[in-house]
Amino acid sequence: MFVDSHCHLDMLALDELGMDLPEVLAAAKKRQIEHMLCVCVSLAEFPAMLAKVKPFAEVSVSCGEHPLHQSDSVDAELLATLAAQQDVVAVGETGLDYFYNPDTKLSQQDGFVKHISVARQLAKPLIIHTRDARADTLALMKAHNAEQASGVLHCFTENYEMAKAALDLGFYISISGIMTFRNATELRDVVRKLPLDRLLIETDAPYLAPVPHRGKTNQPAYVTDVAAAMAELKGVSIAEVARHTTNNFYQLFKGAAHKNAAA
Ligand SMILES: [Zn+2]
Ligand SMILES: [Zn+2]
Repeated sequence: MFVDSHCHLDMLALDELGMDLPEVLAAAKKRQIEHMLCVCVSLAEFPAMLAKVKPFAEVSVSCGEHPLHQSDSVDAELLATLAAQQDVVAVGETGLDYFYNPDTKLSQQDGFVKHISVARQLAKPLIIHTRDARADTLALMKAHNAEQASGVLHCFTENYEMAKAALDLGFYISISGIMTFRNATELRDVVRKLPLDRLLIETDAPYLAPVPHRGKTNQPAYVTDVAAAMAELKGVSIAEVARHTTNNFYQLFKGAAHKNAAA
């Protein structure tokens, strides 16, 4: 069984998919995806996101504000209140994205630090988005003791040194369909070097559909294509990738394990 460790079920283009949400979840189940983590990008939209997915035991949620969706300043008190809810298994996605928005570096850093502090306070793992901000991401993680909360660098596209530094802090690395893209040679080299017991897989749906679905709107069912690509790179079976990445997921997101057990 597989887990999609990072998707945005509330942002899926259901019209394009020609499916409603229960059908999307059924399609995932048919491809042996037993659990999905629906990741929040905006505190304002969190209540609506939670309401949408709460009926489904196979879906967990996070709470946080994406560095690119951030208004001027993250409301740390609101974040702490919302993220404290029992339904919430992780804090994020947060982090730094200097690729798309270098102009808001300082407010991104401020928001990231607030997320780290709330995650530590609540003892919930962090979901970190990082792009073109290697040094600052690691520096803030270290300066604010992110390792006490633990977490994952999601949709990883950076180099091996950064992955290694995150592993040394006890973090996991999550790999998306980008690994299947023709030009992702460097990322494939990184994945080859990383230990299977520290890797997660994700779709980041509705973005980044993996080959052979590239160009289509992405959905959790396609996480098996990510697993297949990882199996090929690692020279192991898909079942082996499934076993490790699913175990790793529940190891990190303990609240998700509880939710599945309750279902
Ligand atoms: Zn992200
Ligand atoms: Zn995301």
